Amino acid sequence: MSEGEKKLLQHFKRERRPQLRDMKLKSVMRELGFLQLEYCGTAAEAHPPEYRKSVFEVDNRRLLSEASTINGVDDLAFLCANCHRTIHVDAEMPAVDVFCRKLHG
Ligand SMILES: [Zn+2]
Repeated sequence: MSEGEKKLLQHFKRERRPQLRDMKLKSVMRELGFLQLEYCGTAAEAHPPEYRKSVFEVDNRRLLSEASTINGVDDLAFLCANCHRTIHVDAEMPAVDVFCRKLHG
């Protein structure tokens, strides 16, 4: 295979209800009064407004394959792209304090 060669990929992707992300953001705003990522503690104001939607991600605390038990915003984690990638190194999403201890000792 050469660099840049096209390859056809097919895969299934589990979908989250799109309105859940907005509900989570509103929930964080209601609780804190501002947007703050729960794993690294970064505040929204640290990023230019036009990048916030890309930088701030929402993921389920549990696997989407367990979707029948996922009910709402309390099942979602609000995290940055770096934390999101790092957290998926582990099979299960760790609790905030466990993740922070692993990252920062
Ligand atoms: Zn983060």
